[in-house]
Amino acid sequence: MFEKPSSSPLAQPFVDGLSKRQLMFQRCEVCAKAQTLARYACQFCGTETLRWYESKGNGKVYSVTQVGRAPSESFKALVPYALAIVSLDEGFKLMGHTRNGVVIGDRVVAHYFEHDGQVLLRFEIASKPE
Ligand SMILES: [Zn+2]
Repeated sequence: MFEKPSSSPLAQPFVDGLSKRQLMFQRCEVCAKAQTLARYACQFCGTETLRWYESKGNGKVYSVTQVGRAPSESFKALVPYALAIVSLDEGFKLMGHTRNGVVIGDRVVAHYFEHDGQVLLRFEIASKPE
C-alpha cells in the first residue's frame, strides 16, 4: 500500500525536498499525469520524460489509520498517532502523519514537523472549506 520514501537515488529529490519543507512529486512531460511514487518511467504511458515539481500540498484524505505500535524505536514517542493517505490536488497520493479526528474526505494541507532530526510530513485540516 505504501512504500516509505527510501534513500535510493530515485527518491532523492523527494527526500531533499522534505528536508527543505517542500513537497516534491514527479509529473510526466508527455501525458502530464502525476506519479504517486518516484519511478524511472511514467506509470501511465511508459515514457521516461519525468520531471520533478513542487506540490502546493493541498489535498483530500483518502484513508486514515491509527498506529498503535511504533514501527521503529524513534517513533515510540509519537504513539499512538494517525497516518493518512492523501490525494493531492496535483493527482498523486502520499502518506503522512495527521491529527487524530481527521476523517476520509477532509480537505487537508501539508505541514512539516521535526522528529529525531528528520523532517516529516503532517497533514492538517485546511482552514477554508472549498
Ligand atoms: Zn506519461
